Amino acid sequence: MPHNVTLPGKSGQRITGREIFSFDRAALKTLGFYVPGKTATVNDPAFTGARFPHAIVAHELTHQSLMINTTFGLFTHLINALRERGFASDDVFQTCHEVQWTVQEAVATYAEMAVVAREAPAKLVGEINAHRRVKMVP
Ligand SMILES: [Zn+2]
Repeated sequence: MPHNVTLPGKSGQRITGREIFSFDRAALKTLGFYVPGKTATVNDPAFTGARFPHAIVAHELTHQSLMINTTFGLFTHLINALRERGFASDDVFQTCHEVQWTVQEAVATYAEMAVVAREAPAKLVGEINAHRRVKMVP
């Protein structure tokens, strides 16, 4: 599992340390996140310095859409519900996330770059290069 993905706690269990479960972008600061079963969230660009907040919205909403509208996303929600009730292991749930992480990030980043291309075409190459400098996998 990528180092930036953390399993959510089970119901009634407080997670110590990092509390965000997300397919976030492994940047030095989190621009936004999506928690399965909750809403896509964009952190305040005044604090994160996000150059294209609408693009971050597109990125996080893509994660939400993939988790709600795809068979595998629905399957992952089902596994999580079973895990919370003790009928599936953490390993099964973790595997669900491992196998979809690359697709999630690829599709979400594509949606993000599409917004940049529409809003500021002259800045697209710079944004793509900025993403390439972020180390996505340890
Ligand atoms: Zn993402």
